[in-house]
Amino acid sequence: MPELPEVETIKRGLNNFCVHQKIKKVMVLCDKSFVGPCEVVKGHEIVGFRRYGKALIVDLSGAVSLMIHLRMTGQLIWDGTERYAAGHPSDNFTAELPNKQTRVVFELENGTLYFNDQRKFGFVKVLPTEEVLKDKFIASLAPEPWQTKPEDLYEKFQRRKNSPIKAVILDQKVIAGIGNIYADEALFYAGIDPRTRAGNLSLKDTKKLVEGACKVMSASIDSGGSTMATYVKADGTKGDYLELFAKVFRREGQPCTKCGREIQKIRVAGRGTHICPHCQKELV
Ligand SMILES: [Zn+2]
Repeated sequence: MPELPEVETIKRGLNNFCVHQKIKKVMVLCDKSFVGPCEVVKGHEIVGFRRYGKALIVDLSGAVSLMIHLRMTGQLIWDGTERYAAGHPSDNFTAELPNKQTRVVFELENGTLYFNDQRKFGFVKVLPTEEVLKDKFIASLAPEPWQTKPEDLYEKFQRRKNSPIKAVILDQKVIAGIGNIYADEALFYAGIDPRTRAGNLSLKDTKKLVEGACKVMSASIDSGGSTMATYVKADGTKGDYLELFAKVFRREGQPCTKCGREIQKIRVAGRGTHICPHCQKELV
């Protein structure tokens, strides 16, 4: 599932490739994937891309915007003089398009932007630009790790004191943008066992956790997240972008980079969770 760093990467890439171009044509190949009248975007120029949490906003001329949620399997693939693909990593990054997973096609002046979504949980929604910030999803977003004050987060942890810390930091109303990968990585960075009760974190622990979340998410953005560049290695074989920054996520059975002991996979709050039982301590 594309997480916040992936959506940030998509935003940066599409700001390079698609802005200042007119939308010549929109084709909706799956009704469920497009909310609102698609004809209103035709003829408008793309002004720029913004991001709020995992929602991508495409601002168009004429005070119209598109909100794109990628959800589980969404991808945005730009096909012009060069190709730029990002989102849920799959063979679609390099495949011929449109294909059976293509849901919406935007024909621009210098190329085509494809919205692909295998599971169809994602969508593109048209709305007036002035209503973007009033949108229910965006209005309810908590601060992202870069904006959050550790003191405020500490307070929120006290209100959910009996829940495992991992479940609390995954809650988008507590802190926005931390998905499963970054929760595991941030907790490893902070040396905290994900089963620790949220109320047992000190302010110092909270600061360390926020610092970890910022570090791992920035590292992911810097490595290009799940883009075509990281998906296809130089030798043409498929690469796993997690290799570029993940210390515990999907590394069960492999040695911890800090202590050499084996990374383990457990379940916390119903989610597959990766820990080093030696480096991460349960706070009591
Ligand atoms: Zn370790």
